[in-house]
Amino acid sequence: QAKALGHGLMSAYNRSLGRLGHRALEYDLRAAISTDQFFLVYQPKIDFNSRALVGWEALLRWRHPSLGLIAPCDFIPVAEESGVIVPLGRWTLNEACRQLRAWLDAGKADAGVAVNLSPRQFLHGDIVEAVRTSLAAHGVPGSLLELELTETVAVCDIDRVIAIMHELKRLQVRLSIDDFGTGFSSLSYLMRLPVDILKIDRSFICQLVTDQRAQALVKGVIDICEGLGMRVIAEGVETIAQASLLSVLGCSTMQGYLFGRPMSPDQCEEARQPFADA
Ligand code: C2E
Ligand code: MG
Ligand code: MG
Ligand code: MG
Repeated sequence: QAKALGHGLMSAYNRSLGRLGHRALEYDLRAAISTDQFFLVYQPKIDFNSRALVGWEALLRWRHPSLGLIAPCDFIPVAEESGVIVPLGRWTLNEACRQLRAWLDAGKADAGVAVNLSPRQFLHGDIVEAVRTSLAAHGVPGSLLELELTETVAVCDIDRVIAIMHELKRLQVRLSIDDFGTGFSSLSYLMRLPVDILKIDRSFICQLVTDQRAQALVKGVIDICEGLGMRVIAEGVETIAQASLLSVLGCSTMQGYLFGRPMSPDQCEEARQPFADA
């Protein structure tokens, strides 16, 4: 079940996708929003030293009526290109806030939720209004919401990106740079962004134990974050060796299959307990 909510379905889908074609997929995407075919799964972020839960990342899933479960890498690019990402992104923000409200009501909102934003959604989707509306609709404090952006957003119109980010910060939401290290934006650009958190990309973490150079890079990023007063999190942590090394290097906030796969809200309830006990 947990596995089914994560990876593993892409190749089967890609075969169907080839037959379906982009136009049909775009059509299906639009219809899927109004017929409740999307849902969110949540992956824990933990503090390795205390084993405490520090937050959740919401990850989008699509249950297609005939093709079955579809992973975001198979439909987000089409949603971006076609502009469907704007209404879809609004759905995602609203759903994450609805879930936060439910956890608040159940006395379980001990950790915030991070939502991924695409560049197009950020730059053309009136994102500030979308975030404000979703928070207000469910009476959720902005401090429980985090927004993850990839650094590709910063190579667009840096001044506009900074202005939007400052407006978002006024809503108390936290901002993070996702997949850090995989884009081509310059460090000087990145340093101008009012972001709170850097997420070191999985591609560095998976080489960490065997590759000295990956280790040097990761150490460098951790030190930069410390110097700038930013938080840092490692994504895609799969082994205890990676986790221990990251902790030694100074990064104790982590996310990855070692600690938990993306899971349904019901599974989140069960997962809270071990984090508290460990
Ligand atoms: P991401 O934001 O970097 O999310 C991390 C991806 O890595 C997720 O894949 C997650 O399931 C996977 N992952 C987490 N831990 C591990 C691990 O230990 N090992 C491995 N091999 N993989 C791990 P997922 O859910 O398929 O999402 C892929 C990408 O799709 C995300 O990358 C994000 O860029 C995008 N995405 C997902 N949900 C949304 C959304 O609501 N909106 C937008 N715009 N993009 C989304
Ligand atoms: Mg992310
Ligand atoms: Mg990421
Ligand atoms: Mg990633």
